Amino acid sequence: MTQIQAIYGAAGCGRGVMPLLREMVGSDTELFFVDDADAGQMINGHKILSFESFVQLNASSKAITIAVADVKIREMLAIKCTDHGIEFASIAAQNHVRMDACEIGEGAIFSPFTTLTSNIQIGRHFHCNIGSYVEHDCVIGDFVTFAPGVHCNGNIHIGDHAYIGSGAIIKQGTPSSPLRIGAGAVVGMGAVVTKDVAPGETVIGNPARPMQH
Ligand code: UDP
Repeated sequence: MTQIQAIYGAAGCGRGVMPLLREMVGSDTELFFVDDADAGQMINGHKILSFESFVQLNASSKAITIAVADVKIREMLAIKCTDHGIEFASIAAQNHVRMDACEIGEGAIFSPFTTLTSNIQIGRHFHCNIGSYVEHDCVIGDFVTFAPGVHCNGNIHIGDHAYIGSGAIIKQGTPSSPLRIGAGAVVGMGAVVTKDVAPGETVIGNPARPMQH
């Protein structure tokens, strides 16, 4: 019986991840998109299935990677997949660099030109977009998204559901006093983060400050 792997989400994020998955698997693995909006259509050579059809497919093995940048939607879809007994696969570009002692949770995506140096812990369903890096001794929670080009320096702790915008630079912490970005925080694109960000806060600019509503 066939092996099946799917990307959940056939929008921008998913279409950028499918070619990486194609490079990782052999010809004995069939690849699909799963999307609740466009089921039945073809995109970039792959059929889009509804979640229900994906669950019903017969296969010797089946795994999914959730390629939706929004951290809350990604978590909701992960819960749905887990409830249906679907396994998660991680995807990494061939030129992704990973050094020593990196612990990464399930369902991660590492786009091209991403680097993890050494002694890093990352939770489940991390998205590390094009050209982002994570330096030594960082601890990153579950369902965190790095947009393209994030510079995450050493000794930074990032809580669950944080979203780090494109080109953001986060100053390094120290082993005794890591720089902390709280759970659910949002760092705007191009922000230069020089101090802790409170949980749920949105910061923008250089130096990054809370956004005024
Ligand atoms: N989506 C889905 N089920 C859901 C929520 C989202 O299939 O419950 C799909 C949605 O139809 C869309 C994709 O996930 O195709 C999310 O795309 P979006 O444009 O929001 O963002 P991106 O691809 O940049 O993450």
